[in-house]
Amino acid sequence: MVLLRRADGQPVKRVLLLATTTGYQIRSFGEAAEALGVRLVFASDRCDQLEDPWWDQAIPVRFQDEARSVDAVVAACGDSAPDGIVAVGDRPAVLAAHLADAFGLPGHAPAAAGKCGNKLTTRQALQAAGLPTPWFVSMPIGGDAEWQSVRVEYPAVIKPLALSGSRGVMRVDDAGEFVAAFERLRRLLEAPDLRAERDAAHGQALVEGFIPGAEYAIEGLLTDGTLQLLAICDKPDPLDGPFFEETIYRMPSLASEEVQQRIGEAVAAASIALGLHHGPVHAECRVFGETVYVLEVAARPIGGLCSRALRFRSSTPEAAGGTGAVVSLEQVILRHATGERVTSYVREDAASGVMMVPIPKRGVFRSVSGVHEARRVPGIEDIRITAKADTTIVPLPEGKSYLGFIFARATTPEAVDEALREAHARLRFEIDREVIVTA
Ligand code: ADP
Ligand code: CA
Repeated sequence: MVLLRRADGQPVKRVLLLATTTGYQIRSFGEAAEALGVRLVFASDRCDQLEDPWWDQAIPVRFQDEARSVDAVVAACGDSAPDGIVAVGDRPAVLAAHLADAFGLPGHAPAAAGKCGNKLTTRQALQAAGLPTPWFVSMPIGGDAEWQSVRVEYPAVIKPLALSGSRGVMRVDDAGEFVAAFERLRRLLEAPDLRAERDAAHGQALVEGFIPGAEYAIEGLLTDGTLQLLAICDKPDPLDGPFFEETIYRMPSLASEEVQQRIGEAVAAASIALGLHHGPVHAECRVFGETVYVLEVAARPIGGLCSRALRFRSSTPEAAGGTGAVVSLEQVILRHATGERVTSYVREDAASGVMMVPIPKRGVFRSVSGVHEARRVPGIEDIRITAKADTTIVPLPEGKSYLGFIFARATTPEAVDEALREAHARLRFEIDREVIVTA
């Protein structure tokens, strides 16, 4: 790898970007790198699908094969180690941790990143540290659901160990629901696409106590074990099951200062309990009474398009290039990855939010109308329909995608909420029944 110099004579910093996707977030990192004069080196299992100009020397890796992927990246870097590493996605986060080790860069410990990607090891780590967790028990996906169903307390939640986006997560209120949900999860985990992942975690299910209460998503950065909260997002729609589709993320949080403080402390404690040390974290928690239950901490930033709802400004304007400009989450993460201090970055003053538009029913997505009217709702900044026309769309708990995303900014979180709901109400999705052809 050649050492480049910037116009000011400083060597150009290089950051390794690891990802399984080639979508929006990767482009956003590309734009952030351009703005900062950082060179990105992309490592992915999708090198054949790259169109953008940023990735001329992408390194092919296989996230399932960590040892070989580490060797491939180290070999590709030759004798010039990167200045930082950023991962998008749970599997890339584990490889990033191994690579941080290999290059002697600060990062999350490989074992910690691995634990975060598995809901059972996450529960075990939090419990071992004496942190609030629901009761939990794991069982093989081929196990005896009837036997188990009379041995758990209700309401309970059944979930896979290593899926995301609430896929396969179901609330059950009695033994009958338990048996039905367990069977449904078994079918999901034994489907060809998940089998192809050859992940041992897909052979087990986690059963745990249902925690009532309000839910929050937290975006943060760990620097040498110290957590900087970048944002606490409210999830204003009740998430009481039986399935848990995410809809609105809204910020700043309307929780009291005291609750926000407790959320921050709980996420910091959970991160340390999991062994996380340095780099982005994305956490989710439920607050019930005085207790903050951390459901998950991921060793990576929030995924996909949602990061667009987050913007930051520096409380010391010089740090943002003297302009006082608002910058993307990706810019803050890249600065942090190259060893810059980013403690002066705080969320922008505006309230903002995103709605992940849920799939209402299974079928063939044909078209959407009303986008123009929805965009005209005051506060709406953008609407992205991500579902592809004429393809089958699948709702939760089996599905793994959304119809699209709606973004809003306003002066108050309540106004953001209202704008998102009004825009959503103006969208009309045409979804046809699937025609199943039998021979
Ligand atoms: P995923 O990784 O797919 O997001 P989670 O374990 O975070 O899986 O569960 C998804 C959602 O399901 C959570 O955001 C929450 O709303 C709900 N949920 C999961 N576990 C529980 C629980 N024990 N009690 C209450 N709600 C839960
Ligand atoms: Ca989650």
